Amino acid sequence: MMYEFKVSQLAEEFGVHRNTIRNWINAGTLPAKEGPGRKYLMKFHDYQKLCEKFGREPHVNPSNHVDPEVLGTLEETDIAPLLINGVKSELVLDPSWADSCLTCGTCASACPISGVDGLDPRKIVRMAVLGLDKELVDSTWPWKCTMCGKCEEACPENIQIVALMRKIRGARERDKVPGPIHKGVVMCLERGNNLGIPKDDFIFLCEDLAEELAEDCCPGFTAPLDVHGARVMVTVNSKEPFGEPDDMKWWWKIFYAAGESWTIPTENWEGVNWGLFSGDDESMKTIVGRLVDNMRRLNCKVLLLPE
Ligand code: SF4
Ligand code: SF4
Repeated sequence: MMYEFKVSQLAEEFGVHRNTIRNWINAGTLPAKEGPGRKYLMKFHDYQKLCEKFGREPHVNPSNHVDPEVLGTLEETDIAPLLINGVKSELVLDPSWADSCLTCGTCASACPISGVDGLDPRKIVRMAVLGLDKELVDSTWPWKCTMCGKCEEACPENIQIVALMRKIRGARERDKVPGPIHKGVVMCLERGNNLGIPKDDFIFLCEDLAEELAEDCCPGFTAPLDVHGARVMVTVNSKEPFGEPDDMKWWWKIFYAAGESWTIPTENWEGVNWGLFSGDDESMKTIVGRLVDNMRRLNCKVLLLPE
């Protein structure tokens, strides 16, 4: 026995958007085939399964029943347990996205890298609500996304696309995180900064730079390391002491000229939290927690992050 329906009718029956029904059909999660008169056909058994998943009674209407011989049989495809009955994806933050995303593509229009290697935030949201978690986690798209948030800002339905991207990143096995960012997180956890600069080397470098600055243009300048009670606690992007130490002098000069009360902690001074970028919430929290501990230890009021 076949069940005949219009998209609008089924959308109303299950309280979802018409596009949601179309997406289910297109994705094959709703095994229906197009019939005459802009109607669709599915096996009555599949309709019953759909009702079960939504916890409702089948709407038995004889006019919806069609002899399958009239239009042939549908493929034997079970309703995948991933979308129907709400979203089963581990990545989706809010199951209502399945319905609220209009597939309007406004997000894709706003995205500065839309189209790069096929990246399209609309597609990513769709795949997530369809439960295609593995495909998303294995894809390179979330790592190409700059997390600028333009898509989210443009979305008329306030879908949290950036949080979704982070979640997808976070779901990837850590040893498969591309590039050096996970290694940086591990290094930061172990040694207090992303590039593993030892404490003594950092202190030596800061004092050396301070001497140069005092000689050049800031008489009496000394590196304000671990100054208890300073107003501002300054963190450092480890790439500066590692590769571009002279760049640190620019903002030191500004503090000097402004007469600011500031300090740099000699441990856990890293200001770039790569856990944020790799989707590693636990590590991110640990690294943030260390900064908070430093603020408390030094009794500072303002935290300055370089990025
Ligand atoms: S802008 Fe929002 S509603 Fe439109 S396709 Fe993108 S995520 Fe969906
Ligand atoms: S956050 Fe990512 S997907 Fe969204 S607009 Fe920026 S780059 Fe594109």
